[in-house]
Amino acid sequence: MTADRPTRWVHGFSSGDGSMGSLLGNKGANLAEMVRILGPEMVPGGFIVNTAACVEYMRTGTAPDGLDEQIDAELAELERASGKGFGDPSDPLLLSVRSGAPVSMPGMLDTILNLGLNRLSLAGLAKISGEPRFALDSRRRLVQMFGEVVRGVPADAFERALTAARERAGVAVDSELSAEALEGLIEEFLVLVADSTGDPFPEDPREQLREALIAVFDSWRNERAVTYRRLNGIPDELGTAVVVQRMVFGNLRSDSGSGVAFSRNPTTGEAVPDGDYLDGAQGEDVVAGVRNTEDLEGLRRRMPEIHAELLASLAELERHFKNIQDIEFTIERGHLFILQTRNAKRHARAAVRFAVDSVEEGLLDRGGALQTIDPAALEALMHPSIAPGSEYREIAHGVGASPGAARGAIAFTAEQAIAKAAEGVDTILVRTFTSADDVGGFNAARGIVTSHGGKSSHAAIVARAMGRPCVCGAAELEIDADAGVVRANGVELAAGAEITIDGTSGAITADQVPLLTPELDPAFATVLEWSDSIRRLEVRANADTAADAAQARQLGAEGIGLCRTEHMFFGNGREALVREMFIAGELWRRERTSASRQRFVDALERLEKLQRDDFAELFGEMRGLPVTIRLLDPPMHEFLDLNALERDLADARAAGEEAVALASEGLEVATAALETNPMLGSRGVRLGLLLPELYGMQVRAIVDAAAGVGVGGEPPEVEIMVPLVAFASEFEEMRARIEEIVASEAEVGRSTPSYAIGTMIELPRACLTAGAISAHADFLSFGTNDLTQTALGFSRDDAERELIPLYLERGLLPRSPFESLDVEGVGELVRLAADRGRASRPELRLGVCGEHGGDPASIGFFDAIGLDYVSCSPFRIPIARVAAAQAAADAKSER
Ligand code: ADP
Ligand code: MG
Ligand code: MG
Repeated sequence: MTADRPTRWVHGFSSGDGSMGSLLGNKGANLAEMVRILGPEMVPGGFIVNTAACVEYMRTGTAPDGLDEQIDAELAELERASGKGFGDPSDPLLLSVRSGAPVSMPGMLDTILNLGLNRLSLAGLAKISGEPRFALDSRRRLVQMFGEVVRGVPADAFERALTAARERAGVAVDSELSAEALEGLIEEFLVLVADSTGDPFPEDPREQLREALIAVFDSWRNERAVTYRRLNGIPDELGTAVVVQRMVFGNLRSDSGSGVAFSRNPTTGEAVPDGDYLDGAQGEDVVAGVRNTEDLEGLRRRMPEIHAELLASLAELERHFKNIQDIEFTIERGHLFILQTRNAKRHARAAVRFAVDSVEEGLLDRGGALQTIDPAALEALMHPSIAPGSEYREIAHGVGASPGAARGAIAFTAEQAIAKAAEGVDTILVRTFTSADDVGGFNAARGIVTSHGGKSSHAAIVARAMGRPCVCGAAELEIDADAGVVRANGVELAAGAEITIDGTSGAITADQVPLLTPELDPAFATVLEWSDSIRRLEVRANADTAADAAQARQLGAEGIGLCRTEHMFFGNGREALVREMFIAGELWRRERTSASRQRFVDALERLEKLQRDDFAELFGEMRGLPVTIRLLDPPMHEFLDLNALERDLADARAAGEEAVALASEGLEVATAALETNPMLGSRGVRLGLLLPELYGMQVRAIVDAAAGVGVGGEPPEVEIMVPLVAFASEFEEMRARIEEIVASEAEVGRSTPSYAIGTMIELPRACLTAGAISAHADFLSFGTNDLTQTALGFSRDDAERELIPLYLERGLLPRSPFESLDVEGVGELVRLAADRGRASRPELRLGVCGEHGGDPASIGFFDAIGLDYVSCSPFRIPIARVAAAQAAADAKSER
């Protein structure tokens, strides 16, 4: 860095704009933009300490050089504009200090309001406002927030003192506490602050600001913020900006209050503004969900002109930002101020509705409208609902705050929900209200219930954003989390009891009600149709059975990109036959006698019939669409279950000597076939080369099934895929064998379908030699799950248990490489293989069949490197269709 020009850490609102989000944070950049749109009358003045200052602070542990001076200059400007003085005992300028990251993280970081108020200026504020009680309330809030955020005093300590004060005064809410009661509370709070850290509350306003700033920087690294970033894939190194703004006061007596509002309904997407308002309150009371709010209609009744002004501003902001806006507003003595605007978090239902409406209204074009959708959230539209007409008894009823039905065991804390999820138990998180600390529990639970708060409460907002069904404000619920019970209408339920909630209607029941998979939302159908017209990538399904295939087609799959035949070897009572086939195969390999060969061939023939029927059903279901069938991949030990073989041996004892000999032979063969490291052992094409008859049987079953289906119906586009190829020579030999088998089928007079032969790329060596492999291949399909395992040397199931969570926590990895493709490493292998493959064979078809094929970020990458298709599990297909369209729209706008 050059020494001549000092680094800029601080920006006045009027010197920034909405495009500067990464430097000013989302909140700061949007405030600057709002000043430009709505004018300084409606947006209180302020300045932003940028993210670079936070990053510098995180690096060095101290506030960067020059920061204090730059802040002083901005403070002087604010004093000039407001005519108030920071720390002026007669007319103090008070400030709000808020965090604001480049990506919105609602409620995750910290805020301090009323900063600058001290013993001396308290009297000045009382006098100039004419409301001594308001001045005391503001100071009470300051000491409390400062204590919690800056000094880390537990929130409980303050809440206990507040509750005691309310009880003494015999009032239900803080706003009814008298001036004397508040004075007493402030003294109590000052003692709490001083006692907990040994340092008294700083009465010097500049010192308050300095400490607050550092605390907000530090909040970037608090546990709940780290958890939120991990769940949302937000990089740790961004840092947060700090927004410093002149306070406006909703906690004055007349014509004052605070609220939040949405330019459209964030649950349904209906083009009607929606919000919550709390009279005589400062903003944080609304979001906390501890006091019950009124809706915008309530505000209209109180102050019709302000209500009209609010609606006009909402409309203007939405037009400007071209997205649903979520704003915070405060009314101070009949003057409306807007303190924040951001693109609203919304339920998937609202997301698709807005996308469609915005095009109809001429606000956006189709590509732009699709970009407003978070494809991963669309899964919520496939949530079940309680079957209409079913009868059940409600134990309580609340606000339907996030649609969809969910069933699970009651968990009273986030920890319980997380622990249960780890055991594979579905839970419903049941809380009085929730806070940012509960976010891990939201992720673990199937659904959320609160007894307090409305549709703008923390619980509602987070649940919608995460696509979890949620019922809020079910006031009949009497939740005693300490005792682990909830009571309502004469019913008492303990932790672990099963309940069902309906986040659409607000119903809560302990009855076993039938749940239904939903009809496709019409707006969702439109969004999918548009996506299909825009996207370049083809979307296929990973499907192993005809039932999966049917579902996949219904969800819009254009083919099957991966059918794993091993799933046809398990279940339906086939295990014994499969074991027999492998044992006979091993004996044949060892002995090479005609008897052992016969035994092997017999078993194969029986399996072939079953496989042929399986394939015929699958082809029939796909009606002429491409179907990629992978020849058997897993290592033998997965089929040679030693426990079952030991059981066979025990059973055989009753059946006589011959049976015992047979069973012990089986056990011996299976034991001998065990490998030390089977996942890197004789599987995939290696198994196919060791036991050529096995792949031969599968190929015959595929070819015959396809020919059969082709007679009456549409012949499928058959693609035979050879797994785990490392060497071009392996694949070349396997291809020749497959062709030979098909030819011999034709020779005996059977009709044979046209087919393609390709390979699954899941080893780094295969990526590097993709040019040579492609000389013999019609297609390459990247098995990115195994490719990630083999490229990283991570065993997925083991690594996901402890290692990856640890890496995420430490910030060593931004996201699990098994959820979102490791673009720099594994992605580079894929790109290289695609390029080398295409160079050697221009007509080569390229696809992905790992679960990454359903991950929006990974899909963006696959589109960018020019693959032809992605294949994912059926329920992710709609997500993939939209994500592929977004990728195409992105690519177009970059050109
Ligand atoms: P979040 O990021 O969780 O939305 P914020 O930091 O934006 O939290 O704000 C917390 C609360 O403080 C909000 O309700 C907001 O309206 C209120 N607030 C912030 N700045 C001011 C201000 N300048 N005057 C009055 N209230 C404010
Ligand atoms: Mg806010
Ligand atoms: Mg594999």
